[in-house]
Amino acid sequence: MALVGLVGWRGMVGSVLMDRMQAEGDFALIEPMFFSTSNAGGRAPAMAKNETTLQDANDIAQLKRCDIVITAQGSDYTKVVYPQLRAAGWKGYWIDAAKTLRMQDDAVIILDPVNMPVIKDALARGVKDYIGGNCTVSCMLMGLGALFKADLVEWMTCTTYQAASGGGAQHMRELLTQMGSLNASVRSLLDDPASAILEIDRTIADTQRGLSAEETKNFMVPLAGSLIPWIDADRGDGTSLEEWKGGAETNKILGRGPGFGVPATPIDSICVRVGAMRCHSQALTLKMKRDVPLADLEAIIKADNSWVRYVPNTREASVRGLTPVAVTGTMDIAVGRLRKLAMGPQYVGAFTIGDQLLWGAAEPLRRMLRILLEQ
Ligand code: NAP
Repeated sequence: MALVGLVGWRGMVGSVLMDRMQAEGDFALIEPMFFSTSNAGGRAPAMAKNETTLQDANDIAQLKRCDIVITAQGSDYTKVVYPQLRAAGWKGYWIDAAKTLRMQDDAVIILDPVNMPVIKDALARGVKDYIGGNCTVSCMLMGLGALFKADLVEWMTCTTYQAASGGGAQHMRELLTQMGSLNASVRSLLDDPASAILEIDRTIADTQRGLSAEETKNFMVPLAGSLIPWIDADRGDGTSLEEWKGGAETNKILGRGPGFGVPATPIDSICVRVGAMRCHSQALTLKMKRDVPLADLEAIIKADNSWVRYVPNTREASVRGLTPVAVTGTMDIAVGRLRKLAMGPQYVGAFTIGDQLLWGAAEPLRRMLRILLEQ
């Protein structure tokens, strides 16, 4: 039975991964070995079989015992530990949620319902590093990948509405703490039906601007009742790293661009953090290579994979079925607002939502584990 090292299993992505692995019976197929950066020597979770003690996630000798390592610990961890492990001669498979290795030539970005041929080809070539994609990219491709596979897209732009959970466990807590502070600051005014709305509004703005350093430690600024139009590092050219990932990773997943012999599809985004708890949403504008009837586009999207949940483009269906609240915690990728745009018959608008902790993070990792176990 393969010895599988699990690192980062108690974080946001890691806990969802553990849930999914339990739900799908993955632990029956492996000998799990749990690692920790903060509690080495502690007790491993109940899924442990023979390896019941938490190992130090920086202990290369212990990691080297594993046939496969799955990590959701984060990019700082990968940056430090991965090179040491390979330098120590480890030949196992590395499955990772972090961005560090994604764009390396010898790493594959995994999203098997979209790019199984790319994964199979890499396995045949002996590639050992399989990295989960950016959450927004993965959710978008699960929804609209069919249009790219059919080579119908000339270019795409995207505005994202990304949830607090994209930043991890601490970010979700911070959003809720901020919400609590806002509510507390106007509670007596809310209780009084005669209170003036402008007073409530002014008090909220004052509270937001007065949130302490502790209350904004993770987002740097208030997110509750606001939004943040920048996600991840500043690349110094007017774009954020998150926006760059949208184009670079989408093309790599699809096997397009430099190194694949197929021109990249231009894709650009403005990525925005909003006060949603979980689930990344995206408003998309696509220029199609030709005028494809709407009914055909709908059929292509619906037929692509069993997780797409097509939402008819009506007010009733959209407000009920095309929201983070409707999608959160499910494997659904909701696709809706599909319509031709005023710019011309080749221009199409769409809106997608996916739980970025499931399809956007944990699910491709556990599915890659299954692919390895089944080969
Ligand atoms: P996270 O919730 O911050 O967890 C990462 C690690 O932080 C945990 O494994 C844990 O390590 C430690 N930690 C410290 N305090 C904690 C607490 N109160 N609760 C839980 N864990 C705590 O990060 P994440 O969002 O899971 O992200 C992990 C990696 O996945 C990152 O590289 C991220 O970019 C990537 N990713 C995230 C998402 C997403 O939507 N969040 C999507 C795709 C990819 P120890 O147990 O060793 O202490």
